[in-house]
Amino acid sequence: MAYDDQNIFAKILRGEIPSFKVYKDDDTYCFMDIMPRSKGHCLVIPKTPCRNMLDASPDQLSTCLQTVQKVSHAAMKALGAEGVTIQQFNEDAGGQEVYHLHYHILPRWPGIKTTPPGKMGDMEEIKATAEAISAAL
Ligand code: 5GP
Repeated sequence: MAYDDQNIFAKILRGEIPSFKVYKDDDTYCFMDIMPRSKGHCLVIPKTPCRNMLDASPDQLSTCLQTVQKVSHAAMKALGAEGVTIQQFNEDAGGQEVYHLHYHILPRWPGIKTTPPGKMGDMEEIKATAEAISAAL
């Protein structure tokens, strides 16, 4: 399937839709998920187009995972998390909703479950959390 440059993350990359930035480098961008399933839930995407892991280049995969590791350490430090869950979905049957490769970083605490998807978070809290993770990088 072809990449559609009207997907929401492509619009975020072009600055057409706002996002809460956590981290960026030459190859990747990390920003907060606005429907967080755990405190600090953020997303890592490549700056260049690809739908998901299935059509991604080795460079896109490796640069994204390096950013996932970097931001995971910062999120654990900033939020006092004891672990992270990384999720990545491919195509409709695989649970994907936005067709620009992305990795979910979900900071985790013992005994605290992730919440169901689709519920808008508190924007002030999300903004403050983005700043806290960013400051720990
Ligand atoms: P997936 O495609 O892996 O199922 O998930 C897409 C993710 O994008 C969901 O976790 C959803 O909450 C998030 N999302 C959807 N629309 C927006 C948006 O406009 N801004 C941000 N920051 N996240 C979004």
